[in-house]
Amino acid sequence: MVETDPASLVGYCGLYCNACGIRQEKIKTAANNLRDIIAHYGFDKIMPELAKWEASLEHYNEFNQFVDGLVKMFGDCPGCLQSGGDPDCKVRSCTKQKGYRTCAECSESETCESLAPYRKGYEGLTQALQDIKQNGIERYAQETQKKVDKGYSYLKESK
Ligand code: SF4
Ligand code: SF4
Repeated sequence: MVETDPASLVGYCGLYCNACGIRQEKIKTAANNLRDIIAHYGFDKIMPELAKWEASLEHYNEFNQFVDGLVKMFGDCPGCLQSGGDPDCKVRSCTKQKGYRTCAECSESETCESLAPYRKGYEGLTQALQDIKQNGIERYAQETQKKVDKGYSYLKESK
């Protein structure tokens, strides 16, 4: 197996892709677990009958299509540098345009409006950008990967 260089998993904003719940396949796993349980009891085959007791189960097919969509959209994220995440991400287009590897190189990073939603979702982002600035992207990536190997996920820290 080819090992992925941790530094290549640092997004332009400074977030570390392997710590993201979506890349960790949390949505895909949860969706597939739910489907497995439903199929295990054979409920998927008798939903029209079950709808006699619980009318909302009539919508099982739509629900199933919705879950398919979730898995398709969030199932296998290739990471920020491989065009994963928001296809219209302003941070990605801005850093690329300025020729920066990450926002840590930018003098506006502490007040940047494009970064604001990500700071709000993940309070550690300011510290992450400082780490990249002070210690370099390789060290930041390696240290964050070590935390991920021990079970760390942004999901646990987001509001
Ligand atoms: S897509 Fe945007 S928000 Fe997501 S990791 Fe990349 S730069 Fe950050
Ligand atoms: S202005 Fe600077 S901090 Fe904001 S997105 Fe662009 S490169 Fe990142």
